[in-house]
Amino acid sequence: MNTEQKTIIAMIKIFCEYHHKTHGSLCEECNKLQEYAFYRLKKCPYANNKPTCSRCPVHCYEKIKKEEIKAVMRFAGPRMPFKHPILALKHSLQDKKNGHKNARFILN
Ligand SMILES: [Zn+2]
Repeated sequence: MNTEQKTIIAMIKIFCEYHHKTHGSLCEECNKLQEYAFYRLKKCPYANNKPTCSRCPVHCYEKIKKEEIKAVMRFAGPRMPFKHPILALKHSLQDKKNGHKNARFILN
């Protein structure tokens, strides 16, 4: 599993725990969203060399799902450094490596 996948799992989990009061596992809705996100990541033409989803030039998420993912990232993004400091750091390093000054979790 790559950093992007781990980041998405972690963020959906934070979102689901808070909004849907789940513990440990995701609710059905969030589980579907995660599967969808994985499916999209797998099909991503940038594969392992991608500039993290927030910077990706390919808008691969369908509109409705994109809104859902966006909501998750907007909510969980700022919480990532506290909940998953190492993952958040890796994510931002990957972003920096690609020439971006400020790492963000929010999709464009
Ligand atoms: Zn949920």
